[in-house]
Amino acid sequence: MSKFVMEEAKRCLQCKNPMCVKGCPVNTRIPDVISLFLNSELTQAGEILFENNPLSLVCSHVCPQENQCEGHCILGRKGSPVHFSEIEKYVSDYYLNLEDKKVLPTAPKGEKVAIIGSGPAGITIAFILLRRGYQVTIFEGHDKIGGVMRYGIPEFRLPKSILDRMAERLIHLGVKIRPNTNIGNNLTVDDLFRDGFKAIFMGTGVWHPNKLGIKGESLGHVHFAIDYLRNPSVYHLGKSVAVIGAGNVAMDVARTAIRNGCSHAYILNNMDETGITARSVEVEYAKIDGARIMNFKAVTEIQEEGILLADTHFEETEEGKKVVIDKESAEFFPVDSVIIAIGQGPRAVVVSSTEGIDVTQRGLVAVDEEGRTSRDGIFASGDVVTGAKTVVEAVKVSRRVADAIDHYIQSTSIG
Ligand SMILES: Cc1cc2nc3c(=O)[nH]c(=O)nc-3n(C[C@H](O)[C@H](O)[C@H](O)COP(=O)(O)OP(=O)(O)OC[C@H]3O[C@@H](n4cnc5c(N)ncnc54)[C@H](O)[C@@H]3O)c2cc1C
Ligand code: SF4
Repeated sequence: MSKFVMEEAKRCLQCKNPMCVKGCPVNTRIPDVISLFLNSELTQAGEILFENNPLSLVCSHVCPQENQCEGHCILGRKGSPVHFSEIEKYVSDYYLNLEDKKVLPTAPKGEKVAIIGSGPAGITIAFILLRRGYQVTIFEGHDKIGGVMRYGIPEFRLPKSILDRMAERLIHLGVKIRPNTNIGNNLTVDDLFRDGFKAIFMGTGVWHPNKLGIKGESLGHVHFAIDYLRNPSVYHLGKSVAVIGAGNVAMDVARTAIRNGCSHAYILNNMDETGITARSVEVEYAKIDGARIMNFKAVTEIQEEGILLADTHFEETEEGKKVVIDKESAEFFPVDSVIIAIGQGPRAVVVSSTEGIDVTQRGLVAVDEEGRTSRDGIFASGDVVTGAKTVVEAVKVSRRVADAIDHYIQSTSIG
């Protein structure tokens, strides 16, 4: 263990009113975990973390802690906050290696629950319902579980072995996993109800890339970020890539492209610095890795050998600032490939093959506070409900939805 982890733990003041806990979206009992860690009670510390958040190990790697626990730590007001993420990483990693006795249900209920999608939302629901004695089956469109954690976030930020260990634990606890199975294409939600699943959970995320709608978008050297990140090694980007967009996904794309042989990665932001929505730490890393961020630039056309790149400026309107493209300034900018990273929306495959599931104007699944969709027995949470968010946000809501599923099955089983 790095000395740093221990030193950070010793710096904690064990506040009576811990601001770090308030800043954490899932209110992790940070001082308790730190105290147990310092007292060599690692199993108990791990249990607290895991029962509160089955994805604590993932969160320790990818949460934007600077806005959450660490951003709220009292020590951060005058100096450096306690870097709890490193302590959480150590404890959660230790705990994930232990044989899971605590999670096993004491009294199996036996009813079957279907989970469509194995991202953070689906995995959270699976662990909670397992603990309550349900038989859980996960249907996953990809060949492995994890959702964006596996097929979006790059290996250098989140080791995939963590997800393999989670899959092992789920299987060990009795979960059945059907990989390469897209519900809605062949098997439908109605098939699942027919086969005895008492409730169905949809955690299908947002996998439909937004288009730019400009000339050249369908050319052979143009790709969408979410497709590229799924399996970067199969792409031949050449030596230079233009990444359109300036969010976290764009930073991941640029850094991945550089690691796969691109010597020039240009991140094109159509605004000033405020248009860079990525975490500042990710922006810093992208720059360190060699990416170049170009502000006030918009692509007006994609051509075989490069892009037409125009300047932009702000214009004040009644609604606020508007980005205006100075079309006449457009100049040819040579690049070997282009990756579009301007966000994702949901795919409609489950909703379009199932009657009675209402969606919002953005095509997201409409739910009530507890994650109930408009169709009886079908629940949803995660990005497919909220639009693109974070791992911990998916965990937070899914804990509530798991309660609602439990309550639904118990109330419909009576009588
Ligand atoms: C590149 C990238 C980087 C990110 N980095 C971070 C980060 O650093 N920190 C952070 O907190 N968040 C990050 N996020 C956001 C975070 O990963 C998501 O908010 C989170 O994964 C959402 O979880 P989910 O369970 O709702 O959906 P997803 O993770 O999208 O999982 C949905 C799963 O459902 C499956 N599925 C979809 N349709 C079907 C179907 N019909 N049948 C069967 N299976 C289906 C998909 O294959 C997928 O496995 C990032 C997102 C991206 C795209
Ligand atoms: S706010 Fe900081 S110092 Fe106080 S309990 Fe939390 S981590 Fe420890």
